[in-house]
Amino acid sequence: MDIPFWSKEIETLDRASLQAIQLERLRDMVSWALKTPFYNKKLSSVGIRSPEDIRGFRDLERIPFTTKDDLRRSFPKGLLAVEMTEVVRIHSSSGTTGIPTVIYYTRDDVDRWTDLLARSIVATGASAQDIFQNMMSYGLFTGGLGLHYGAERVGMAVIPIGGGNTKRQIQTMKDFQTTILHVTPSYLLHIHSQFEAEGVKAGDLALRRAFIGAEPHSENTRRKIDDLLHIQAFNSYGLSELNGPGVAFECVCRKDMHLWEDAYIVEIIDPTTGRNVEDGQEGEVVLTNLIRRAMPILRYRTRDLAFLHPEPCECGRTHRRLSRILGRTDDMLIINGVNVFPSQIEEKIMKVPEVATNYQIHVDKKGALDRLTVKVEIYPKLFLGDVAKLEALRARIREELRSSIVISPNVELHEPGSLPVSEGKAKRVVDERPKD
Ligand code: ADP
Ligand code: ZN
Repeated sequence: MDIPFWSKEIETLDRASLQAIQLERLRDMVSWALKTPFYNKKLSSVGIRSPEDIRGFRDLERIPFTTKDDLRRSFPKGLLAVEMTEVVRIHSSSGTTGIPTVIYYTRDDVDRWTDLLARSIVATGASAQDIFQNMMSYGLFTGGLGLHYGAERVGMAVIPIGGGNTKRQIQTMKDFQTTILHVTPSYLLHIHSQFEAEGVKAGDLALRRAFIGAEPHSENTRRKIDDLLHIQAFNSYGLSELNGPGVAFECVCRKDMHLWEDAYIVEIIDPTTGRNVEDGQEGEVVLTNLIRRAMPILRYRTRDLAFLHPEPCECGRTHRRLSRILGRTDDMLIINGVNVFPSQIEEKIMKVPEVATNYQIHVDKKGALDRLTVKVEIYPKLFLGDVAKLEALRARIREELRSSIVISPNVELHEPGSLPVSEGKAKRVVDERPKD
């Protein structure tokens, strides 16, 4: 296989040299972080007062974690480590659950971040020949501008269409012979469901790849996207606290995502004890940003659950691969005492061929008991069949779910287009239980 690279030397660096770079950059980051009142306090409380106090990787574990709450508490400028005049960009997370978190970038920060995205894009086999339709929303969300800059740096023709307006998205794919989409997996599935209405077949379009990210999705969802759209979908992971997309991205092998270790230190911890676990074991992803000066961030608890592959990738890159995000520590549902992750549900239902492209998880309370209902859209032709067949399908989906999540949910079958759609990050869970 011909493996494409953006910066081969750094992407294939031997582990010892990679770690040497990490350590040097970590010291540098600590010295920047000490300029902020927030980290100055945090680091001195464990005796770290200068970069020299970081003698080796063992000292990394002395650094206290940073949490989303820490960032909220420091809103708006508590973590700013440069003069405001040096800042060229401000992003912010969605802030749907409270005070938003804000991220600052200097010109060099944006430049280094852009380079990671160019590297990520080229790793998928995309090149300057491609026509790139960026369907992520622009604005404060990092997904839009992040990939936009990266794609321009690679030299692709970028269509900055942003999120939403399905009709226009499809028309644009036709008009410009788009070859690559950047989109959330849920919206891409919705777009596909509208092809027929717009008189388009996947095979008529020029699409070859999609970069899908910003929300959890299973391998089965990816396969569905590949099959329905006749493309290859690549998983893309990032979060605004760590710049945005481009933290980890799949290469042409599509066996999980290379996490760019010259730019980030990744640790996987046991979320209850806070201790590091071995490669291959699942836990919470903790990340240190090694390339941003305007706003340093050390040992950030992402709340995302994943593991690192211990074995190297066939592409020759030495940066370790992060698994799919298996769930978030904060999206776990407790249903009558049983822990259930929405990702477990998705994985099962997307394997059922009759299931179309949208679903919703609904939880409420009946008397003292929690009640879980999984609503799935199925293809319309099935509704023309007899009731016994539908009943059998319902029972099959229910049994698939029970084998994975232990409890047996209600399953409702819906016609396509009847469940709510989102044009960005999907909101799959509706929890209507009274909060006590
Ligand atoms: P927020 O959603 O917290 O406002 P971001 O927009 O920065 O902030 O989203 C980052 C989060 O989105 C990640 O922490 C992760 O939970 C989720 N995410 C991003 N990319 C992926 C992906 N490829 N797979 C699963 N989840 C993802
Ligand atoms: Zn690889």
